[in-house]
Amino acid sequence: MSNCLFCKIAAGEIPSTKVYEDDSVLAFRDIAPQAPTHILVIPKAHIPSVDGITAENSAVVAHIFAVIPQIAAAEGLKNGYRVVSNCGEHAGQTVPHLHFHILGGRQLALEMA
Ligand code: AMP
Repeated sequence: MSNCLFCKIAAGEIPSTKVYEDDSVLAFRDIAPQAPTHILVIPKAHIPSVDGITAENSAVVAHIFAVIPQIAAAEGLKNGYRVVSNCGEHAGQTVPHLHFHILGGRQLALEMA
């Protein structure tokens, strides 16, 4: 997607603070961290949101969830962390490229909504 912020970050056209990268996945630090550790994990291929995950493209999502524990371990999140994906307007999604937030480094609030 030519006008997608996270596609541009994945392509290296916009800088990011990378913490993990392979052929299909990129993880980088959130520009406005909500916790001491706040990392975004994205597929390099454009998927708009959780709503865009299908049987055809879900392998990268499975791969993301294999990578997340590696990132958490590398970040020293041994007391736990939260993985969140906001999908659509009511969830407050602001960047329409699938991403998973990793939040940790402090006790997180229990509220889900
Ligand atoms: P969401 O609101 O769930 O769509 O999450 C989008 C996230 O992207 C927010 O937490 C933003 O702070 C973050 N963000 C926006 N622009 C950038 C950027 N250039 N680099 C890193 N994180 C960003």
